[in-house]
Amino acid sequence: LLSRRLQMVASYLPRGAKFADIGSDHAYLPCYVCLQDPTATAIAGELNEGPFQSARKEVESNDLSARIAVRKGDGLSVLSKDEVDQIVIAGMGGTLITNILEEGKDKLGRTSRIIVQPNVDAKSLRKWFVKYNYQITAEEIIEEAGHIYEVIVAEKNDTGNELHYSERETLFGPYLMKEKSPVFKKKWIEEKAKRDYVKREIQKAANPDNDKIAALELEILWIEEVLK
Ligand code: SAM
Repeated sequence: LLSRRLQMVASYLPRGAKFADIGSDHAYLPCYVCLQDPTATAIAGELNEGPFQSARKEVESNDLSARIAVRKGDGLSVLSKDEVDQIVIAGMGGTLITNILEEGKDKLGRTSRIIVQPNVDAKSLRKWFVKYNYQITAEEIIEEAGHIYEVIVAEKNDTGNELHYSERETLFGPYLMKEKSPVFKKKWIEEKAKRDYVKREIQKAANPDNDKIAALELEILWIEEVLK
């Protein structure tokens, strides 16, 4: 059975999706989607030989080779321009996912929806989405096996209106900070504790970095406010 985390990601693909799953590992996500939806097609991209071979085996054993192409390569380099309508990048750090999008941005011509699941640092992705005019249309936060995961869905903004997110929305997520689910609260209680700790450690130094302390204090204040 597919993890709840990847089922959540899959739920944001439309029927008849024509998508890429970058960093696909065992290709569990594209296999699950294509088994459920006979009109879906996918490209599973993998940088590393081991996971690439696992993906090939999984696709073959599910008899899906006609609808899932497994390709080896870095990030979006496995795609030709305008090849897919949706891109999924899940299970990595937000900074790595951001780098993959940035390096592959020339491939995004026809991509109308990007679904990302960063394990940490979702903020850098939200900033990237604004910069390249993708509007965040949904967010999820879930806890599974002791880890908290965020899913962000973004769609190309063709309204002509300029996108804007406040710094708080960029940090917490525009939808997640409104919803304030129990998992969201749990995450930010932990994140506040981390910042309190880092602040104390910096204050112990002979020459404390006051800019860093001020930046932490500001985020700590925002967290206290969002948790109210
Ligand atoms: N997407 C799956 C998931 O969410 O369960 C697998 C996540 S796994 C932790 C990350 C995978 O991304 C690994 O298999 C790794 O080899 C692959 N990867 C890392 N950097 C990559 C890159 N630049 N391009 C393609 N794949 C990459």
